[in-house]
Amino acid sequence: MKVPFVDLGAQYQSIKTEIDQAIARVITETAFIGGKYVEQFEREFAELYGVKHCIPVANGTDSLYILMKMLGIGPGDEVITVANSWISSSETISQTGAKPVFVDIDPDYYSINEALIEAAVSDKTKAIIPVHLQGQVCNMEAIMEVAARYDVPVIEDCAQSHFSEFRGARAGTIGKAASFSFYPGKNLGAYGDAGCILTNDDELALKCRMYARHGALKKHQHQMEGINSRLDGLQAAVLSAKLPHILHWTAQRIENAAKYDSRLSAIKEIVIPKVRPETRHTYHLYVIRTERRDELAAYLKEKGIETAVHYPVALPNMEAYQYLGHHRDDFPVASSYQHTILSLPMYPELTGEQIGYVCDMISAFFRQ
Ligand SMILES: *Cc1c(COP(=O)(O)O)cnc(C)c1O
Repeated sequence: MKVPFVDLGAQYQSIKTEIDQAIARVITETAFIGGKYVEQFEREFAELYGVKHCIPVANGTDSLYILMKMLGIGPGDEVITVANSWISSSETISQTGAKPVFVDIDPDYYSINEALIEAAVSDKTKAIIPVHLQGQVCNMEAIMEVAARYDVPVIEDCAQSHFSEFRGARAGTIGKAASFSFYPGKNLGAYGDAGCILTNDDELALKCRMYARHGALKKHQHQMEGINSRLDGLQAAVLSAKLPHILHWTAQRIENAAKYDSRLSAIKEIVIPKVRPETRHTYHLYVIRTERRDELAAYLKEKGIETAVHYPVALPNMEAYQYLGHHRDDFPVASSYQHTILSLPMYPELTGEQIGYVCDMISAFFRQ
């Protein structure tokens, strides 16, 4: 049996007619940039989230950058984020001219350790970017509390947490603003690059919209210089075609995780994901931990099972951040987990049979 890490083809086959029709409409109407399909998606996504503004942008990296720029973050400032994430979370801080300040991860939940944030705050801190990694929501109560005390905005990086919840509130609706990615492999994925910003702040929304469109809300009326970061019509149409299914797909991910849990919890050599109380984990990734990570990954590969590591090098340990002069022991949890975490195949269309096979092979590995 073959178990791919993700299977975007399976999802396409399940809604082929809707997708094909949506794409054909955009092409027939040549609604390639801007236009009604982009407007439709931004309206639908904002409504689904119950948030006032959705600003569609080119990808989930631009959305972070645009938000920070429009919050006035720049040279001399510091922004706090987490030591284990995709590099977008920190490189966009540098792009504004500010300095990324890393905080270690929580040993149980893999996201930013909220207890360590206060020690990272300085008089230069201009924002906190918690990343709801793997689909698991950070402790937003504690984070909002520290942010309020120091009067800094919180930008939620929701690239991996579409429809995750913290105490009944959706991730992305709790901070000042949120950044989403619709990269094809994300829980809600386009057929190319795509992203958006969500916020209830009217002024911030207007600025972000303007900045992403060369500083102009109306053609040729540039109120400032901006950048070109647009969601295109084809991507918007694909996303709109997927929206009616997204809550069901999210539920399927959670069911698949429960199946993994029930089979894997008995294997004492591995640690299965622990869900933060009063939250909804949406399993962008299903991450286990084992001291024999590389051996296990190689064994599974031999058995036709694809796995991945998110991420093999914690951000402060990367060559790109050597200039910050960090030592691995500054982030002991992230630095040690980069050698033990393993992401198992996870997507809505994963079958019970496939999950059973993955679990069988993991058990076999530890019994040999
Ligand atoms: C994917 C991802 C991004 C970037 O999104 P792109 O659309 O690929 O630019 C940002 N942050 C995190 C945590 C991500 O996983």
